[in-house]
Amino acid sequence: MAPATHVKILIIGAGPAGCGTSFFLSKSGIPHTILEKAVFPRDKVCGDAISGKSCYVMRTANAPWLHEIFRKEDQFLPSRGIQFVAPNGKALDIRYPDALRPGEKAPGFTVPRLRFDNFLFSKLDAQFADVQQDVSIKSVSKEGGVNKIVYQQHGEEKILTADIIVGADGDKSIVRKAFMEGNEARKTDSVGLRAYYTGVTGLHENDFIELHFISEALPGYLWIFPLPEGRCNVGIGMLSSRVRAKKINLRDVFQKALQTNPALRERFKNAELQGKILGWGLPMATEREPVSGEGFLLTGDAAALIDAFSGEGVGNALYSGMLAAAAIEKALAENRTDAAFLKQEYDAQLYRRLGDEIRISATLQKLCNYPWLFNFVVNKAAKSPELRNTISGMFSDLDLRDKLRKPSFYFNILFNR
Ligand SMILES: Cc1cc2nc3c(=O)[nH]c(=O)nc-3n(C[C@H](O)[C@H](O)[C@H](O)COP(=O)(O)OP(=O)(O)OC[C@H]3O[C@@H](n4cnc5c(N)ncnc54)[C@H](O)[C@@H]3O)c2cc1C
Repeated sequence: MAPATHVKILIIGAGPAGCGTSFFLSKSGIPHTILEKAVFPRDKVCGDAISGKSCYVMRTANAPWLHEIFRKEDQFLPSRGIQFVAPNGKALDIRYPDALRPGEKAPGFTVPRLRFDNFLFSKLDAQFADVQQDVSIKSVSKEGGVNKIVYQQHGEEKILTADIIVGADGDKSIVRKAFMEGNEARKTDSVGLRAYYTGVTGLHENDFIELHFISEALPGYLWIFPLPEGRCNVGIGMLSSRVRAKKINLRDVFQKALQTNPALRERFKNAELQGKILGWGLPMATEREPVSGEGFLLTGDAAALIDAFSGEGVGNALYSGMLAAAAIEKALAENRTDAAFLKQEYDAQLYRRLGDEIRISATLQKLCNYPWLFNFVVNKAAKSPELRNTISGMFSDLDLRDKLRKPSFYFNILFNR
């Protein structure tokens, strides 16, 4: 076996969380190594909706990357709003508030992850990032307090030791499993299916993404997200506990909804499925869990940071990568990789910025258990421009979103205040 090579910073996984970490390490001139099991371009099961938060991180990393995306409308479809369809079939269109910056055409966009992740991957800076693909990690461990990784690449076994490991290796993170004592295998709290279709009719004239809160999926939903090139990403997400308890076959629920739901069946009459219907887990953020420890940090899905209400995870993956890089920069400057330091510089910063949002989304997800409440809000909003404006504002204003958690919000709608 080859002798161990030592690196200061090792990132495992080159999805949005790993790329996000790498972008900001490179910006600060910090050399690092990335080990990735796949070979890019690689697919990731997802709804393919890239939010304003993702745009914020990309803008902070390198604004011209976003301009490049918005110049290629044939590949990245600008996303300007969202349509909620309540369990009673009533639709509510909400345009995102758009305070656009020069070079940007919309607050977000949709793009197949195969293309988006490859875009991010192509922006890794070879001057600072030593990227190794097609690796198979055999073990992640600590020996004498030192992080040790044994992996195979092209039939050869290699060993790396690292001062800090960033777990950016997704929902089945082996870094989490190896190091997160007592919380190694976080159960995936939702499962989702994704399918690509052509020929879906009745799409919104401004390509709004659609969330259908059909009663069979609550508190999850079925989605239709228009993509470039006349395709749609269509999928469904549901709580794993519900799937298990009621022995639900999610694929059957999904296909039956497309064939029989009154709001969907006509629209899918001539639609054609492209490829297979694929499933994946969604580790949701529901509370403030530890996301670091002695010599390691977890980011993105490895840290279970998917928004419990919207199912959005790319934004938090990129965002946590950005914060992980900032924590690492401090750790190197002060020569500290101990658990207490990383907790203060990473966990505390992450929850200071995302904690309120996580709390609010977890409550909103629970509210979706009540179809009548959903129907009630959508019915009222359909008639009230003020209420529609309030809901639109919730996409950018957390204080407004917090209102949704409070009984007074519903009381005020009831009495039109
Ligand atoms: C059905 C579904 C729909 C979704 N829809 C949306 C949506 O519309 N918008 C949104 O923002 N989010 C959505 N999400 C969530 C989003 O896909 C994730 O939150 C996001 O991909 C997390 O990024 P990540 O970098 O943490 O993990 P990943 O994207 O999973 O990347 C992890 C990387 O690590 C690599 N890796 C894994 N294991 C190893 C290993 N052992 N060694 C080396 N490399 C490894 C993988 O190959 C991969 O490249 C959805 C998720 C699902 C399942």
